[in-house]
Amino acid sequence: MGYEHLKAKVKKKNGLICYYCGDKCVNDCHIDHVIPISKGGYKGDINNMVVSCSMCNMKKGCHLPLEFVKRTKRRLEQIRNEARYLRRIIKNTKGKIW
Ligand SMILES: [Zn+2]
Repeated sequence: MGYEHLKAKVKKKNGLICYYCGDKCVNDCHIDHVIPISKGGYKGDINNMVVSCSMCNMKKGCHLPLEFVKRTKRRLEQIRNEARYLRRIIKNTKGKIW
């Protein structure tokens, strides 16, 4: 499956709602890797890909979710609950992520 096809699938799954702030992102829809590739996430893994508005995508950069959303605790709790799979795949990465 090509990367562009994967991105289209993520958008379909997420319904163009930013994973981090919950805003609708129609014209500035980016695809973000929840666990950045530089921190052990897989690029072609649809379970590691979410829709993100450009603002959140830029702010998050190569940070882990905890570093990015620690100010919005409620959202972090939702991400924790949704992302059991991601916790498994990054078990071996250094540092505390969630
Ligand atoms: Zn956002």
